[in-house]
Amino acid sequence: MARYTEATCRLCRRALEKLFLKGTKCYTEKCAMTKRAFAPGQHGEGRRSKLSNYGLQMREKQKVKWMYGVLEKQFRLYFKTASKTKGVTGKVLLQLLERRLDNVIFRLGLGISRVQARQVVRHNFVYVNSKRVNIPSFLIDKNDIIEIKAKEKAGKKIKDNLELSKDRTVPSWLEFDVAGLKAKVIRLPEKEDISSTIQEQLIVELYSK
Ligand code: SF4
Repeated sequence: MARYTEATCRLCRRALEKLFLKGTKCYTEKCAMTKRAFAPGQHGEGRRSKLSNYGLQMREKQKVKWMYGVLEKQFRLYFKTASKTKGVTGKVLLQLLERRLDNVIFRLGLGISRVQARQVVRHNFVYVNSKRVNIPSFLIDKNDIIEIKAKEKAGKKIKDNLELSKDRTVPSWLEFDVAGLKAKVIRLPEKEDISSTIQEQLIVELYSK
């Protein structure tokens, strides 16, 4: 599976924003962005004010890719799909990313980070509409039912994840029966349900050049 090999916290520092890529550590004072909230490297502290418009667009695109753990080629495909879909391209792009099954598992708190949520999917614990789905990029749709069916030991791990992420709120587009480890997609996500810090218009401008 393709993945980012760069030190995870470095990605947050390059994005100048907490991207919550490491799970529980992200919520503690050990977070690298709490200690050094500036770009990595010798001149990192002074880099913030020097970005051109193109630099800002690039950084926004990279940030969103890192957040969702998507590589360039796949991200471009999402953009292409979004630009061909009826609606506002930036909004559709974010919606596509948010509808990924690994992201939904993360949003439900069944994984403490998207990386871990991806493992939950890969390890065959997730069923969508009663069928096992182990593809992290699988796109969920309205009215889909997502269930976790894990063996005892793995089930404990998932319950531990839920405990660790209990302070995170499940977004209102998902209805979650925690005891039954079963969720329903009651509507598709809107921009307000995603991240208020994402400026998707910058990404649209970048790819529209
Ligand atoms: Fe980013 Fe988490 Fe590392 Fe903090 S701990 S810099 S939020 S990955």
